Amino acid sequence: MKAYNEMGSEELKAEKEALEKQFAGVKAKGLKLDMSRGKPSKAQLELSNELMDVLNSDSYFCDETGTDCRNYGVMGGIPEAKKLMGAMSEVNPEDMIIYGNSSLNVMFDTVSRSMTHGVCGNTPWCKLDKVKFLCPVPGYDRHFRITEYFGIEMINIPMTENGPDMDLVEQYVNNDASVKGIWCVPKYSNPQGYTYSEETVKRFANLTPAADDFRIFWDNAYSIHHLYDEPEKQDYLLEILNECRKSGHPDMVYKFISTSKVTFPGSGLAAVAASQKNLEDFKKHLTVQTIGHDKLNQLRHVRYFGNMANMHAHMSRHAEILRPKFETVENTLENELGGLGIGTWTTPRGGYFISFDSMDGCAKAIVAKAQEAGVKMTEAGATFPYGMDPRDSNIRIAPSFPTLSDLKLATEIFILSVKLVSVDKLLAE
Ligand code: PMP
Repeated sequence: MKAYNEMGSEELKAEKEALEKQFAGVKAKGLKLDMSRGKPSKAQLELSNELMDVLNSDSYFCDETGTDCRNYGVMGGIPEAKKLMGAMSEVNPEDMIIYGNSSLNVMFDTVSRSMTHGVCGNTPWCKLDKVKFLCPVPGYDRHFRITEYFGIEMINIPMTENGPDMDLVEQYVNNDASVKGIWCVPKYSNPQGYTYSEETVKRFANLTPAADDFRIFWDNAYSIHHLYDEPEKQDYLLEILNECRKSGHPDMVYKFISTSKVTFPGSGLAAVAASQKNLEDFKKHLTVQTIGHDKLNQLRHVRYFGNMANMHAHMSRHAEILRPKFETVENTLENELGGLGIGTWTTPRGGYFISFDSMDGCAKAIVAKAQEAGVKMTEAGATFPYGMDPRDSNIRIAPSFPTLSDLKLATEIFILSVKLVSVDKLLAE
């Protein structure tokens, strides 16, 4: 088919009429489909069911040092959990603290503690006139909601296929002492599925921040979440803690990780990796906050996986379920929208999302249109701080949750919505 912007108004009107008929047809079906959140499907959850059989009343409940995991204590996590999560995060077990069930919760706490008590003895952020965070966009809505909640000013940094625009990052971080942090999803980013290049990671590690308490919030949520088993089809991310050490800035980064999309979201293990100085700072707060995290869950995860190789094998079973879903969305987009000039999208090799960009000024209307036919998408604008996409063009597609047949239907309805809104825009021009 011709590109839409090459069509005359009569052709566009004819196309609109045909699309409206199709849309009325799907709307009449009264569907209820959800492509809004990056939740694993039921089939994926079932992969981890045996995790629930690892412990029962006959189990040995002690960790490898003999500590009874049914009781309080062991603030930083049992040694074998640190080993497993350390391997997942590519750091030494001693550079890690195991937390509770959610890494987002740890990120929230970290910002909260920095606001009230400061970072490693620096002035608490709440006592400063201005605190700013850099936000690579499009990005993860829940990161932005944390910084918005604390009244931290957020600055958009455009993303590229290699990571954030590092010229801009360097300019802000190295010159503006009110810039205290940056949100990063460095591997299979949310929502584009991009992985930061080696050069980007090295440039991060070589930042020379104007503020002593500037920290990189490195949320490696998708560290082992490949869609393909072949190593040449997997993205590779340079390990940043070691790079920061090499560049003489060992305290500049906090690495967050969790097993939310490995086992059960909301019932997994979360962890932080950082320099010893940073970990001591975390622990000062932690020892007031709790008498210890859920060590039985740590024990359960460690005994279930045993080692990293088994965890990778488990991720490969997730990929078997996820891969056809991503490919279905991508192929349908290509077949239906390829060459029309009304949208572009990413084709990630891992993670949980596909990022779609419509013509400027269309995203909100597309999401509303899809909703009209029963397809729930992530709210347009959510991938930007304050929910404000300056071009109103980015839409996050989350293919994981629906069944394959529902996903096909949902994608077709989404595409119809893109076409209808685009035709309207072109006719109005
Ligand atoms: N970080 C990113 C980038 C995510 O996409 C998600 C889940 N959607 C999380 C963190 C949440 O992780 P957790 O369940 O460990 O809080």
